[in-house]
Amino acid sequence: MTPFPWHRPALERLLADRARMPHALLVHGPEGIGKQEFARALANGMLCESPRDGLACGACSACHWFSQGNHPDYREIVPEAAMEDEVPEGEAEAPKAEKAKSLVIKIDQVRAVADFVALSTHRAGYRVLVVHPAEAMNPGAANALLKTLEEPPPATLIVLVSDRPARLLPTIRSRCRILALPLPPREAALAWLREQGVGAPEAALAAAGGAPLAARDQSQADEAELQRRLLAELAKPTGADALTFAATVDRESVERFIHWMQTWVHDLARVRLAGEPRHHGHLAQPLRARAKAADLDALFAFDRELAEARALAAHPLNPRLLAEHLLMSYNRITSGNRP
Ligand SMILES: [Zn+2]
Repeated sequence: MTPFPWHRPALERLLADRARMPHALLVHGPEGIGKQEFARALANGMLCESPRDGLACGACSACHWFSQGNHPDYREIVPEAAMEDEVPEGEAEAPKAEKAKSLVIKIDQVRAVADFVALSTHRAGYRVLVVHPAEAMNPGAANALLKTLEEPPPATLIVLVSDRPARLLPTIRSRCRILALPLPPREAALAWLREQGVGAPEAALAAAGGAPLAARDQSQADEAELQRRLLAELAKPTGADALTFAATVDRESVERFIHWMQTWVHDLARVRLAGEPRHHGHLAQPLRARAKAADLDALFAFDRELAEARALAAHPLNPRLLAEHLLMSYNRITSGNRP
């Protein structure tokens, strides 16, 4: 796996000195900077059979197994609630009684890896165990892990990942080499957010206190919410409530607002021409209804207006007025009363 760019220096330092790799490492730092991914990249680097500049090569069989999630010398312990759901083949999802999943790491989970830690490794190299988040271990689990930390098996690296290391048993902390990962440099975080397609990355990063993964997740949630609200508005048989909706459009969201309007208008035009919607198939019914009342030439003209507005969106004089104007034009075009 490719590490986040801001983690490379710390990874390279650790992996350059494999001979002095500790038995246990406690990785901590602010939430949302990718500590779990750091632990995985470190594990990948330790297990790689032909590392390049210390980091995982991504091409050997060990790297291949690792990326598939089945390297025999790698284990992760996470709370049940953080595990990806696996529905066994042929079994329907619904009947399973909805049981609240555990947020803690239980003693059984630590015991279950006892053999993994005690027996010899499959590939005659290192073995790596990642525990995340380490503060989720209940007292039984923590004590079971402490036994392993007190008598560390050879060629074994245990990585504990934690947002809140103060919640760990002091006896556990004292057995680990401590590695504090800081917030990434602002420029690196912004470059990564741009790569992820996050609109208004500066605002997103600031809102997340400088943590890029948190910024991405929040912006995706905001984006999904904006899209949902806007499409519901455009789908209304009576037309959009232009004034109320426009009041929620600001400098950060105006460009995305126009983008989602464009996708809707494209779908309207396709449906009007007896095609299938490309973007919003789940709204085919309201699209058909709105398309019926729309004038095709006016739709194309409006599409050009949207493209022009989007080009200006980086510095619109007033995002609210722009949104109002566009929604009112949309209402006019789709109301059947053509000028
Ligand atoms: Zn490799």
